[in-house]
Amino acid sequence: MTGPRWLRRIRRATAGRDCCWYHGVNWHLVSETAIGIALQAQASETPPEDAFYALDLAACGLTGDDRAGLILLLGPGAGIELNDEDPADVTIYEGRHRITAMRDAGVRRTVIQRSEVTPA
Ligand SMILES: [Zn+2]
Repeated sequence: MTGPRWLRRIRRATAGRDCCWYHGVNWHLVSETAIGIALQAQASETPPEDAFYALDLAACGLTGDDRAGLILLLGPGAGIELNDEDPADVTIYEGRHRITAMRDAGVRRTVIQRSEVTPA
């Protein structure tokens, strides 16, 4: 890319690319893969964390940063979490920049995690 540094910076910001690691992930592919795995787990009534640990990451069809992106959606405690205690005021608790990167890429749906307290 050519031009003065300020122009390059604006171009980069508006393109939403090269911003950071998150913006380099193929979130279309990663999100669809994660949704598929989550739906499969749900259908077989497998707890999400069990489904994740049973996952053969080498066979999931993703490589490199995309595979890491999948872990950042499905990994127990690593995923996107919303604070939805007040349904009228849902906020992003964890994963703000992942969501920004997805929006910039035009991704419409993904997987979020919800922590549940289970009685011991
Ligand atoms: Zn970024």
